[in-house]
Amino acid sequence: DLAYVNGEFMPIEKAVVPIEDRGYQFGDGVYEFIASYEGRLFMLEEHLDRLERSMRGLNFDPISRSEIKAAICDLAERSGYPRAGIYIQISRGAAPRNHAISPNISPQIIMTIRPVKEIPAAMRKKGATAITVEDTRWDRCDIKTVQLVANSLAKQKALDSGCDDAIFVSASGVVREGTSSNLFIVSGGRLMTHPLTNNILPGITRTAIFRICRQAGLDAEEAFFDTETLYGADEVFLTGTVTEVLPVVRIDGKSIGDGKVGPTTRQIYTLLRQLALEGRSV
Ligand code: PMP
Repeated sequence: DLAYVNGEFMPIEKAVVPIEDRGYQFGDGVYEFIASYEGRLFMLEEHLDRLERSMRGLNFDPISRSEIKAAICDLAERSGYPRAGIYIQISRGAAPRNHAISPNISPQIIMTIRPVKEIPAAMRKKGATAITVEDTRWDRCDIKTVQLVANSLAKQKALDSGCDDAIFVSASGVVREGTSSNLFIVSGGRLMTHPLTNNILPGITRTAIFRICRQAGLDAEEAFFDTETLYGADEVFLTGTVTEVLPVVRIDGKSIGDGKVGPTTRQIYTLLRQLALEGRSV
C-alpha cells in the first residue's frame, strides 16, 4: 500500500507528518475519500469540487486543483489496484502550537491508497441495523474536516450495542445522516433525504442518487423528517463512497417495512453499480 506526502511517493509505513501539524493538533484539515472501479476513479471531479469547497470553508489558501488531481491519478496508477480507496488529506500545515494561525504556514498534502474494504456481502443481502444518536457535532458538518471523533464514537456505540451503524438525529428530532453516509427513506414510492444544510455532508453518492432517480423516473426530494417518519418508512438506505447503497432494515430495534431489503433500494443499488462500473459520472 502506497502513500503520498507533499509530492513524494512511498510505502505507507514510511510516511510520517510533523508532530506540530495543525491537522493533528487542531483537527485543522480537510479530506476526501475516492473509490475506483476497474481502475477508474468514480466521480473524481465532484470529489475535487468538494475538496475545494472544504478548503475555502476553513479559509485555506488555494491549492492548484490540477496538481492535486495529477497526484491522485498518479497514485492510483502506481498502485495498480483495480478497486482502490484513495484517502486525501490536506492540513493547514505545521507551525509551533498556537490557536492563532501562523501567516507563513504551508499546507501538507498526504494521500494513501489501499484496496477498498468492501461492505460484507451478507450485510448487503440481509440489510444493516442501526441506532439513532443525538447529533452533537459542530454546525459546519457541510465541511469535510478531519474532526471525526463524534462520528467515530457514534459508530463505536452502534457496534457495542450489536448494530452496524448510527444515525445522527438533531436535538429537535430531525433525522440527518449516518456516521459516514447520507440517509434516504422511501415512503409511498417517494424518496426523501435531508436537504443540503450546514448540518450534513453533501455526499457525492447522494448527488449520484438524485441523478439516477431523475433518469429512472423515480420521485426523489429533499425534505426534513423526524424519527417517527424514519421508523414508519417502507425502506431506508445509507449512501456513501464505500457504503454505495446500503439497506437498513432495523433501527432502534424496530423493523423498517417488512424487515427485508426493499425493491427501490435494490433498484438504486443496481443502477449505481452500473454507472460506477461503466466508469462515468452520472
Ligand atoms: N456523511 C458523512 C458524515 C460522511 O463521512 C460521508 C462519507 N464521506 C458521507 C456523508 C457520504 O459522502 P460520499 O457519498 O461523498 O462518500
